[in-house]
Amino acid sequence: MRLFGTDGVRGIVNEDLKPEFVVRLALAIATYFGSGSSVLVGRDARAGSELIHDIVSGALASSGLKVYDAGLTPTPALQYNVKERGFDGGVMITASHNPPQYSGIKVVLSDGIEAPREVEEEIEKIFSEESFRRVSWRELRHKRISVSDVNEFYVEGVIKHVDVSKAKKTFRVVVDPANNVGALTTPKLFRMLGAQVLTVNGDLTHQPFREPEPTQENLGYLGSIVRDIKADFAVAHDGDADRAIFIDDLGRYIPGDRSAALLCRHIIVNRRDNLPRRVVTAVSSSTIVEDLLREYGVEVVWVRVGSIVIARTAQSLGAMAGFEENGGFMYVPHQTVRDGAMTAALMLELLSSEEASLSELYDKLPKRHLIKTKVPLKDKSSVKNLIDKILASYGNYRNITIDGVKIIGPDFWFLVRPSGTEPIIRVFVEASDESKANEILKDLLEIMGEVLK
Ligand code: MG
Repeated sequence: MRLFGTDGVRGIVNEDLKPEFVVRLALAIATYFGSGSSVLVGRDARAGSELIHDIVSGALASSGLKVYDAGLTPTPALQYNVKERGFDGGVMITASHNPPQYSGIKVVLSDGIEAPREVEEEIEKIFSEESFRRVSWRELRHKRISVSDVNEFYVEGVIKHVDVSKAKKTFRVVVDPANNVGALTTPKLFRMLGAQVLTVNGDLTHQPFREPEPTQENLGYLGSIVRDIKADFAVAHDGDADRAIFIDDLGRYIPGDRSAALLCRHIIVNRRDNLPRRVVTAVSSSTIVEDLLREYGVEVVWVRVGSIVIARTAQSLGAMAGFEENGGFMYVPHQTVRDGAMTAALMLELLSSEEASLSELYDKLPKRHLIKTKVPLKDKSSVKNLIDKILASYGNYRNITIDGVKIIGPDFWFLVRPSGTEPIIRVFVEASDESKANEILKDLLEIMGEVLK
């Protein structure tokens, strides 16, 4: 029985995530870690997360674990505390970027990184067999211990990696944490780094003003706030603040792979750290990152879509950074997980060391037109045939076939990839101009029409 999705167990509170389900899942997680293990449990500010936090904590304790309570905290803050403070693991109660009615449960190992699929499978097996470990009442002597400085410890950890001493002015920044836990760390971080901060959607007791996912559609209002107060940039997080999306000083939304490309170049050019010249990203990201970093001798490693794959690959190969195109960025010297506050602090450092504004830096990136679309997939067995057909028809170009098929040309790239969760094929086409992108898309739709009919 598969419980874990691409990033933890997610569901609507009291519909999918009923208390009785949460108890069994938490007992399975506890059994995996083993009695005596110390586990840090944190949560986001969603309506259902507090009750799930209580249920999970009780179930972990009943299996003899030492339960430490992080309270309200961003996912990367919990992960940093687990790694740096020597916990055996962590459990984060969050549904990240999902709509407000959702919550979720995410398991973190002692290195602070999300559990790999093998561990999830082990937990799922314990869950379905109900082979839960329980301890006798005599062993229930551990009190739940509150760790009150999780967020402060994390902010201090981020600041250790940032140098804004070259700043020639006081930066003005807008922070939008989507009425969630990023409000507890990012505004404070920027103030400690000397910036002026305006926080919007910072009230955790308020129903979210916007959808938690920081997409262009959901952040329409932020550009005018940036322009009105003449801010240098805005940063928008998702619900658990592991993503950071930037709005430039002209109020424009910057896709996460563009900001990641700028940050990676900054890291390699302006930092003394002797970091591996390697960046890991998913096939869904733009090839702009390769175009920008090639001259610095930086290798871009393309992997399957999913942040855990990026993190584990960055960890095993050695990398300076990893990222997703949705705003998830990992700065490896800090921790190999997506980290919204670390990313935001790096952007401040970048602008402190540059003469140019964010809009000027963004405008110097290669101009590309991106189309994202999807096509229904009735029969999964036709996918291989589709990939072969595309490879045959684009045989003159470089290809990557680890997750669907990505074709890379001199002034375009595209990705045709079956979704992991829905019966659809996702299609991304990016080209030097709109007509070229449309032309490629038309060709791909024709091939798909033939093969998938
Ligand atoms: Mg998230």
